[in-house]
Amino acid sequence: MATAPQVQVKPGKLFIGGCWLDAADGKTYVTLNPATAEPITHVADAGERDADLAVQAARQAFQSGPWAEMSAADRAKLLWRIGDLIDQHSEELGTLETLDNGKPIFESRYVDMPMAAEVFRYYAGWATKLHGETIPVRGPFLNYTLREPVGVVAAIVPWNFPLLLASWKVAPALACGNTVVLKPAPWTPLTALRLAELAQQAGLPEGVLNVLTGSTRELGRALVRHPGVDKIAFTGSTATGQDIVRNSAETLKRITLELGGKSPNIVFADADLDAAVKGATIGIFYGKGEVCAAGSRVFVEKKIKDEFIERLADRARKLQPGDPLDPKTRLGALVSEEQMQKVLSYIEKGKAEGARLVAGGARADLGGRGYFLQPTVFDGVRNDMTIAREEIFGPVLAALEFESLEDAVRQANDTPYGLAAAVWTRDVAKAHRVARQLQAGTVWINTYNNYDPAAPFGGYKMSGYGRELGAHALEHYTQVKSVWVHLKD
Ligand code: NAD
Repeated sequence: MATAPQVQVKPGKLFIGGCWLDAADGKTYVTLNPATAEPITHVADAGERDADLAVQAARQAFQSGPWAEMSAADRAKLLWRIGDLIDQHSEELGTLETLDNGKPIFESRYVDMPMAAEVFRYYAGWATKLHGETIPVRGPFLNYTLREPVGVVAAIVPWNFPLLLASWKVAPALACGNTVVLKPAPWTPLTALRLAELAQQAGLPEGVLNVLTGSTRELGRALVRHPGVDKIAFTGSTATGQDIVRNSAETLKRITLELGGKSPNIVFADADLDAAVKGATIGIFYGKGEVCAAGSRVFVEKKIKDEFIERLADRARKLQPGDPLDPKTRLGALVSEEQMQKVLSYIEKGKAEGARLVAGGARADLGGRGYFLQPTVFDGVRNDMTIAREEIFGPVLAALEFESLEDAVRQANDTPYGLAAAVWTRDVAKAHRVARQLQAGTVWINTYNNYDPAAPFGGYKMSGYGRELGAHALEHYTQVKSVWVHLKD
């Protein structure tokens, strides 16, 4: 394992109102490197009082001062600068992300960071293109609309793509003129702190972006309940999403929820099998399977099932986990011991319920204490087994078979989730027919895991509501005011 590089963030501090502060009660906690189980650094453990301070700072920055008066064009420049600074520091940010999360440096440095930068630049472009309309109303009146920011946004993000998912929320929120309190996940706080430093360097006025690190669920809850927060932008598990809906009822906040998934990857016999095998592998093992849109259920047409699974299992066996800091590594360490134990318990459930293990199935020994798992494939899975129904959030693939298009669609849709899906076939009409019938917010045809700042992303069913990215996200960060003017003397 390579020696961990020195961490360059303000350790132990919260970023509130442009200042680096200790938590009100002075508490800190340690963030660990999942590849070695060793501490990286200590960070501030914020509580309710800190949440309150951060919300007050965001509220003040929203209502008065340079941000409230700033032109859209100047906001755009600021966002663009933040994107450029992320690019300039992508090596360092990528390293921080890898240390904190365990994902391969190849992913954090060459996928997460460039896309986070791109998201800031994409929304920089939108800042000057948000406007109202004039409406042809009856009578001697002029009616026009103003598109206004919603106010203080609490952005609550998970640990799997810490900076990237923060950018999906912070960039559109700022483009629309809101202010933000960003709360990273307890296990992965470091890049959010560095983002705060870069935003400050870009010239973002104080209080516009605040960062609260903390180890407890109560910190998130404090933001959700706070009357000074206007909107919650959340990515995380479905259970937490439900808790957020309940806790936000009192103050009726606007909410967008990006939740869990159990995404089907459907392979027809007429598909390009090389591409489909590769796509199914990337679909589940990219990001160690700790990906909300992971293709965790692969449905294979009966007549090619055995050949397909053999090739897939072979690929999985060859994909061994390695040191996340090594640029050649393609499978890193799971984020925590807790997550690894959770995934191992699903593997046991799969075996106990009668699924056939054809690759992996155990912890990978890299000679240290890191949380590495072998890429795992189960064949002979039925859609009612636990490993086909619950989100495992690890490198575990459930393979199922189908006999017809109707059967594939029925099984694929037989899940409470609806985040993403994919279909592999050379038949164009069939591909589009299936795409329409799948209940999912994203459908990939002959590809998997494509994202772009301009393409909307979000869930059907219990995978959440609202859309992130693209023009669709702007709806959630603005509200419309209708203004009437009497035109007669
Ligand atoms: P999680 O729900 O436990 O936590 C997510 C965030 O919410 C963290 O910052 C956490 O501290 C905070 N939180 C926890 N309890 C809270 C509460 N009661 N009120 C307010 N905030 C609270 O999820 P996780 O374990 O960090 O992430 C994994 C989950 O995220 C998976 O289910 C995955 O599918 C989902 N996810 C979804 C998407 C998507 O875009 N749909 C993307 C990535 C991850």
